[in-house]
Order: sequence, then structure tokens, then C-alpha cells
Amino acid sequence: MKGTIIFATGNAGKMREIREILGDIDMEILSMKEAGIEADIVEDGASFEENAVIKARAVADKLAGRREPAYAEAIVMADDSGLAIDALNGEPGIYSARYLGEDTPYSVKNRSLIARLAGVPDEKRTARFVCAIAAVLATGETLVTQGVIEGRIGYEEKGGNGFGYDPIFWVPEYGCTTAQLSEEEKNRISHRGRALRAMKEELGKRI
Ligand code: IMP
Repeated sequence: MKGTIIFATGNAGKMREIREILGDIDMEILSMKEAGIEADIVEDGASFEENAVIKARAVADKLAGRREPAYAEAIVMADDSGLAIDALNGEPGIYSARYLGEDTPYSVKNRSLIARLAGVPDEKRTARFVCAIAAVLATGETLVTQGVIEGRIGYEEKGGNGFGYDPIFWVPEYGCTTAQLSEEEKNRISHRGRALRAMKEELGKRI
């Protein structure tokens, strides 16, 4: 093993996806919790990239503070993602998780977005999921990659897979929502999958 990657997330689904995509880089991949790090991070950046960098740097700082020899050379990674709807000027965007309140069920958030698009024709319902990944290397160098998947907001919720806004995110090439794709299919085309693979390529040039 050539070292450790610590991913700044507490989300088990994200960790599964990360392990699957980064699995062949011969590094140990740990979640923040597995590395014994706790951080309450204020995501006050103005973009997905800024928020990903804020999260990764906050965790890297905690690690440096502990001077844990085992993780002295660790790479700290974080992601930030969300849904941007063109007809709503990019909303909910970086506020995707907080839209209508963090604890509001996604069925309510999804129905709200559909209602706000009432009367908007197909061709103007364009939207994208965006994901930024930041990696802070042991040298302090910070790498950032981004992945996007283009789609349209549907007229009703469809599908039971995925999470969040997946049931209203229609992918024209597949003729279904991302909530109707299997996990493998979604990973292959998703914003997070694309951003992670781009990060894997960047890391490959350095390690
Ligand atoms: P994050 O965990 O801070 O990146 O929050 C991103 C938020 O954007 C999530 O809580 C979801 O609301 C939304 N989101 C991001 N990626 C996806 C996805 O693949 N499907 C559905 N919703 C997503």
C-alpha cells in the first residue's frame, strides 16, 4: 500500500461509491470516522469547488494538529455536490442539502421544485448534478476536479433507487430518472463518478 486516503464524509453510500471507484489505486481508503476524526465544518464557500476545498482543508488541519504518525502522509479528500436547475437560476445549487431545511423530506423538496417549474416546457427544464472533489496532499498541494451529469427536471417523482433529488432528475439518454438506474449504472455516468475518476487520474500523475 502506498499510503492512506481519508475521505471527509460520514455518508456510508458515498464511501461505498468512493471505494468502488478509487479501489484500484493501491491506497487504504478510510472515512473520517474510521480515521477517528470529528469535525463540524461550516460550508460557507460560494461554489461547489470552494466548499469541497473548505471541507478537505478543515480535516487536513485536524490531522496535522494530531500529528498522527500513521496518517502523516495521508491525502485528505472531500466532495461537495448538488443540483442546479437552469430555469431557477441554478437553484438549489450549493444549498441543495439545505433547500427548505436540512431535515425536510426529499419528497417535499422534490414536489416543491416541480411546482416551481409549472408551465416550464421540456426544453427549458434543463438541470445538472455537479460534484467537486478536493484533495489536500501531504505537501499541502490542493487538487480539485469536477464532474457533471446533464438532465431535465421531470413532472413527477419516479424510481426508488438513489437518494435526494434522483426521482425528479430525468436523463434523456437513458429515458429514465437517476432513481430508476441501478447503483452501477448511476456510478458510471454520475457527477460524483466522473469527478472521482478525474481525481484518480490527477493522483495517478503524482503518486
Ligand atoms: P453534500 O453531501 O453536501 O454534497 O450535499 C449534496 C446534496 O445535493 C444532497 O444532499 C442532495 O440533496 C443533492 N445531491 C447530490 N448528489 C446527488 C445525487 O446523486 N442524487 C440526488 N441528489 C443529489
